Amino acid sequence: MKILKINPFFNLLLFLSIGLVSCSTVKSEVENANTFFENQKDSTEIYTKPKLVVGIVVDQMRYDYLTRFWERYGEDGFKRLINEGYNLKNAHYNYMPTYTAPGHASIFTGTTPRYHGVIGNSFYDKTTGEKVVPVENNEVSSLGTEGSEGERSPKYLLASTFGDENRLATQFKGKTIGISLKDRGSVLPAGHAANAAYWFAGGEEGKFVSSSYYMEELPKWVEDFNASGKVDSYLKNWETLYPIETYVESGPDSTDFEGDIQGRKTFPYNLKKLKEEGKSGYGVFLYTAYGNSITTDFTLAALEGEELGKDEITDVLTVSYSATDYVGHKFGVNSKEAQDTYLRLDQEIAKLLKELDKKVGEGEYTVFLTADHAGVHVPAYLNSKNIPGGYFSTKELRKDLKKHVEEKYKTEDLISNISNFQVFFDYEKLKEKNIERTELEKEVYTFMMDYPKISEVYTREMIEKGAYHDKIGEKVKNGFHPKRSGDVAYVLAPSEISYSRQGSTHGSPYTYDTHIPMLFYGKGINKGASTKEVKIVDIAPTISALLGISFPSAATGEVLYEVID
Ligand SMILES: [Zn+2]
Repeated sequence: MKILKINPFFNLLLFLSIGLVSCSTVKSEVENANTFFENQKDSTEIYTKPKLVVGIVVDQMRYDYLTRFWERYGEDGFKRLINEGYNLKNAHYNYMPTYTAPGHASIFTGTTPRYHGVIGNSFYDKTTGEKVVPVENNEVSSLGTEGSEGERSPKYLLASTFGDENRLATQFKGKTIGISLKDRGSVLPAGHAANAAYWFAGGEEGKFVSSSYYMEELPKWVEDFNASGKVDSYLKNWETLYPIETYVESGPDSTDFEGDIQGRKTFPYNLKKLKEEGKSGYGVFLYTAYGNSITTDFTLAALEGEELGKDEITDVLTVSYSATDYVGHKFGVNSKEAQDTYLRLDQEIAKLLKELDKKVGEGEYTVFLTADHAGVHVPAYLNSKNIPGGYFSTKELRKDLKKHVEEKYKTEDLISNISNFQVFFDYEKLKEKNIERTELEKEVYTFMMDYPKISEVYTREMIEKGAYHDKIGEKVKNGFHPKRSGDVAYVLAPSEISYSRQGSTHGSPYTYDTHIPMLFYGKGINKGASTKEVKIVDIAPTISALLGISFPSAATGEVLYEVID
């Protein structure tokens, strides 16, 4: 980073000189001052501001997808970002649960659920006793659809994003646009003061929609894109990009460890047929590599339609590729489908960078690429290779815990909810029965520590007092919002998941869920790589420092000073 170095005594000297010397001398002093500034001309730019910041999130991308498929990637996608940018090889989520909504919120706010408040993709609202989806908001209306898919806003996000801070810093002249197939992958990164966020409505619609939270009606370029037939053009066969027998970096095409799309789990997938015969309509794209292609197409339309990065005022574009997550959930991280999705995503990234070169100019924009969480190998597959892992039933836990508490206290419903690895108490009932919250915490702690497949338990009291001495406990605390979270948090044993026996999932504090790519590239970014451990919350402060703007309101991460020029 270039910092304008002004001698702090310079102004004082100039001031004193003016007061003490004759007019002619003043003139020469002014000339000197001009010369001084002339000499500083090449460093008058205090901060290296890019015209556009592009934040790319790849949903469920494990760090090792970069290394596992390295030989198969082209030169212009992931490799361009790594070879010409900065690769943080040891970047992790520093909280649990590692889910999509908290992940996207943490990347762009530079803090964890403890402060931004998005503690899950959905969570139990203890004030109303209802389930809350943090981007859903029925006080706003849909744009581009008659359905309710557009009723979204960042209502439950308690902190600002770096896009919000850039809006403030530029007097709202720098734009912020969010794009993803998923609502939460678009709304949370874009933040509160965004110009727009767009996400995909599947079913019979197959188009990008938005919310009245951002604008009164969809811009013409969005209407044009939706009418262009672009989405329909992907209703074709999904074949592997290269001959399938060359995909030696993944497991067989058909295994017991993968799920299926309407009974089909091998290439090629006839998407036209699957769309017509299935219940999810255009939603079938979510489970295929083409979901990512549609995302790129829409992003390129946004670049053009919104004229992003066209002037000197920095704009922010957030793009989250969601299909990777659906493919991982459906087929597992070791599947041929996952491999093909990443090889094709590499081409999507290359296409996006090429267009940025053309529209914004090479060297004029800054990109980072990361993920909202990683994912576990299918435990049944691990077991088949004698590696530990397994399946945990939250339903059984709920039943057993309720039964235990009922027997002990002779009263029903002291436990009101179990979700996101947290147990919620009913405070009203506790009061009614004159039971101390901390007493029930201890009881539940003891019961759960003895429960099979649970490896760690933390009570609210322990979390509040910092009564833990390990990294896992720290991650639990960082994901624990004092008002929104429950009263006892638990961690399953490694590779134990509460999920179907087919496909991968995520949510734990273990490295298979926390280790994600973190790549920076472009204007103001150094070339290099590091194995130093860094945290997901470091991205937003680093981008803020690059832009010379305020950090997001609750940022707890640190500036990765080795990354910025
Ligand atoms: Zn997921």
